[in-house]
Amino acid sequence: MDQTDQREWKFPNWDIMIDTPTEIAPDWSHEEFQVQGKKYHVMVHSFGEEGGKRAALVRDIKKIVRAETAMWGAPEFDSYTFLLHFAADDRSGDGMEHLTSTQIIQPGALSEPEVYESTLSTVAHEFFHVWNVKRLRPVEFGPWDFTRPANTRSLWIAEGLTNYYGHLNMKRAGIWDESRFLRRESETINSIENAPGSRLMSAEESSLTAPFIDRAHHIQRTNQANTSISYYPKGELLGLVLDLLIRGRTDGQKSLDDVMRRMYDQFYLNSPNATYYLRGRGYHSEEFQRVVSEVAGTDFNDFFTRHVRGVDVPPYDEALSYVGLRLVREQAREPYSVGLMLNASSPQGLSIGNVLNGSAGEDAGLQPGDQILTIDGKKVTSRDWLNRLNRYQQGDRVPISFKRDRRTLQTTLVPGDPDGFEYRIEEKPDATAGQKALRVAWLKVQ
Ligand SMILES: [Zn+2]
Repeated sequence: MDQTDQREWKFPNWDIMIDTPTEIAPDWSHEEFQVQGKKYHVMVHSFGEEGGKRAALVRDIKKIVRAETAMWGAPEFDSYTFLLHFAADDRSGDGMEHLTSTQIIQPGALSEPEVYESTLSTVAHEFFHVWNVKRLRPVEFGPWDFTRPANTRSLWIAEGLTNYYGHLNMKRAGIWDESRFLRRESETINSIENAPGSRLMSAEESSLTAPFIDRAHHIQRTNQANTSISYYPKGELLGLVLDLLIRGRTDGQKSLDDVMRRMYDQFYLNSPNATYYLRGRGYHSEEFQRVVSEVAGTDFNDFFTRHVRGVDVPPYDEALSYVGLRLVREQAREPYSVGLMLNASSPQGLSIGNVLNGSAGEDAGLQPGDQILTIDGKKVTSRDWLNRLNRYQQGDRVPISFKRDRRTLQTTLVPGDPDGFEYRIEEKPDATAGQKALRVAWLKVQ
């Protein structure tokens, strides 16, 4: 970095070479800081307004590095690089973990508050991967066989628990306050518990179907909106619940942090090299299950059968009550539900992406791919679709015309009950001092 004349790069092997991203840019900023004797570089390449936020960004990244290394212990590298790219193009966005770096691309500009927050949240996620995934990894994740897909049942651990800890560490680092963190977890509960696929697809099954879920491109139409869930939010909630169950059942003596550290010790740090590729051989999903029971000192096999390999609702109430919180479930506030998801990027206007099972849209005979042309005889676009629909109430008869292939068809949409729920984590009115103390211990830097 900061070099303009380097023409050659050398790597010990192919895997490490392709795990070392490079950004070439005409201008960027480079800042450094140290935590626990390790050097961190922050490279920023930015389009769009910055609002003078580069210095604050580096300070906040340092807080995240401190919080996460406090949990794991010092990482084994000498230096690590955050490659941050603000594209300001409203479409590019990604975060990718690497052995000694991460590359994060934001679609917006650094000056926008939500972009700033999203950058830090992504930093907290990707930096957690230094341990969970890049080194402590499912057995299928390296050494790589580049000739076939690397299917694993453990992505809910690799990505889902990283999602959980990314958000938790936004709180532990002091970037989020407690209510912001709990609101984020409530949003995840909303997305999972309102998804019809939650009662059909388990966390392990979701992990195995990753090639069809994580940014997969489908040439043929699928019904995944009704049948699948993502291991990111599902794993995040299993992490939240597991952590609180372990803390509660051990009176605060142990936590999921202890599970992660023991896994890291056992399957990475203290494992001999099985191959040319890093230490250890990675873990099998049964080994993670065994370590949870060992650390907690009680049998967690039932939890894995019901909530990891099965689709039972996680025991949110028991878990949250240990830290003086509860989950409130209320009827969704929207006045009606039609169960139609629009295709965001359809060039032909208002096109239906998905139709939820058992919804008003399904009753009206609408299908994915249909293009809605008019409501009550007047032309409708994706921009005024919701406004126009909001003039009707539950039970009204809404005449719709739509195009399917080359035919123009008519139907009547009858908006139904709002079928979803709104979930909110809040303080338990009778929370005890002991429960509040457990909550403080959970949310502070470890
Ligand atoms: Zn990730």
